[in-house]
Amino acid sequence: MKKYLIVGGVAGGASTAARLRRNDESAEIILFERGKYISYANCGLPYYLGGVIKDRKKLFVQTAGEFGKRFKIDVRTRNEVLSIDPLEKKVRVKNLETWNEYEESYDKLVLSPGAKPILPPVPGTDLPGIFLLRNVEDTDQIKHFLEKKKPRRALVIGAGFIGIEMVENLHNICSEVSLVEMADRVLPFFDLEMAAALYRHIKSHGVQVYLQQRITNLARENEEIIATLDNGKNIKTDLVIIAAGIRPDTAWLQNSGLALTPNGSIMVNDFLLTNDENIYAVGDAIQTKHQILRQDMNAYLAGPASKQGRIVADNIIYGNKRRYCGVTGNAILKVFDLTAGIVGASEQQLKKHQLPYRVSVIHTASNAGYYPDALPLTIKLLFTPDTGNILGAQIIGFRGVDKRLDVVSAFIQLQGTVFDLAEFEHSYAPPYSSARDPLTIAGFVAENMIGERFRSIDWTDLDKEEFRQAQILDVRTDEEIKSGMIKGSIHIPLDDLRDRLKELPADKDIIVYCRAGLRGYLACRLLTQNGFERVYNLSGGYKTYQFIHEAKETEDVFTEDVVHPDDQLYPEGDSYLT
Ligand code: FAD
Repeated sequence: MKKYLIVGGVAGGASTAARLRRNDESAEIILFERGKYISYANCGLPYYLGGVIKDRKKLFVQTAGEFGKRFKIDVRTRNEVLSIDPLEKKVRVKNLETWNEYEESYDKLVLSPGAKPILPPVPGTDLPGIFLLRNVEDTDQIKHFLEKKKPRRALVIGAGFIGIEMVENLHNICSEVSLVEMADRVLPFFDLEMAAALYRHIKSHGVQVYLQQRITNLARENEEIIATLDNGKNIKTDLVIIAAGIRPDTAWLQNSGLALTPNGSIMVNDFLLTNDENIYAVGDAIQTKHQILRQDMNAYLAGPASKQGRIVADNIIYGNKRRYCGVTGNAILKVFDLTAGIVGASEQQLKKHQLPYRVSVIHTASNAGYYPDALPLTIKLLFTPDTGNILGAQIIGFRGVDKRLDVVSAFIQLQGTVFDLAEFEHSYAPPYSSARDPLTIAGFVAENMIGERFRSIDWTDLDKEEFRQAQILDVRTDEEIKSGMIKGSIHIPLDDLRDRLKELPADKDIIVYCRAGLRGYLACRLLTQNGFERVYNLSGGYKTYQFIHEAKETEDVFTEDVVHPDDQLYPEGDSYLT
């Protein structure tokens, strides 16, 4: 009878254990978990804290007892694995209830110890009212504090996924919520123009956002917590959640002989095997191949952890046959009324890795414009300049973001192109999409760009030296330009353009923009066929330009400025019909 040990009882560990049992009824399987609970929904914790999930029991997929009985697994909660002896094939374990230490031998060992929150190196992080959020124990402490102290003000440090989810959920409970982020944007994984739209939306809910600021000190004065920023500003609050990132929880593996990366991630091969032939590793603690960047990275996502567990269980029982394909980095979150998703590589990552790319941004609608409640949807698509292979996408909208993101993720995994995107057959009825799905349109725009039907530039190009002398042309209507124009542009509505070509300089680059990009594209085609040679469409039109520039305008976050309704950002109409 084989003996398998698993360290960590949540996403990766529990899925490995269950699959091992399904594969081998006779094996002895022991699952060690340092905490009190296994197989719970970390991803639901912010929503339980915010009162969206009301019943605490709903957080538990299965209790340790139920799981152990169903799968005949020896589940040892409150047992921490202290070290590994790979030569002897043994682990040393501490029972955290009795403080007894003991050893357990193995044939195969699976590590899924996850990650732990990073504590910023500032004084005061251990004061009452200041919390980290990783597990049920943390959640219980925060919930108790919320119920007992009924805080009016809350501060979240870190505008990553968990930070933003906590901002939204604390906003359900507290009347004043502040957010501090050291990067120049919220959700720093997103490119600036997309993050700018999210930033504005968060602020429109009355959240005070401080960008490019670090916390330098946390102190308590009577019942208040004072958080000091590096510009000297003090934020007074009643509760602080630190969501400043995570790192693999692998300090206990330092002397194990297992190969770790400089950030402590366990190194694995395609079979998810470590440098020891009897030890596999999965989940947040490992680095795996990013399918676009072709570099090992941390994914910190529940889906990959759970799928990796299944692969490892198969490799243990049937031999190392199943290779893990790597991650596309498909991540999504709710940001108040918006949904924001990102998959593949971002533009900033492609730049950093010096990979050639082209970018298109479209603003369209979630479903047929004539059907009630069609809502705006923005897609930023990145693809290779020659073959059109999809490199990544960022999608923001009120509805239908998830399905588009997953389609892009699947295409990336299958090495699909923008031509595939333009042709794939999508499900359509007016409440769900249009005859041309937003992704189809994104594919059309990209294939037009590759086919040189028009040239496109993005908002970052506007400041470049090569376009300094260019003539900027606004082809929106008289009504639309009342909301503002790009500095230095002239205005000729698209429908008048044929009759007013003489007003345009023949010897200059012409940069055309409309609201979202479609009329800009039509104007480009018209101008090119009338002899204008150097014509460019501004990708994403005035709307993307506005995302960026409005974000900059509201950057003075220290004046307590709060942006109110978001209708400027998402005006009605102008759906993309090309
Ligand atoms: P974990 O689920 O963290 O499990 C590791 C377990 O190992 C822990 O319980 C730990 O106590 C135990 N352990 C560690 N060391 C030892 C040891 N030496 N001995 C015994 N036990 C040990 N991902 C998404 O994809 N979508 C989301 O919406 C999402 N939301 C999230 C929200 C929150 C608040 C959090 C905290 C995470 C969220 N995640 C989300 C991330 C997701 O939960 C993780 O990617 C996933 O849980 C990783 O699984 P894992 O098995 O690697 O680690």
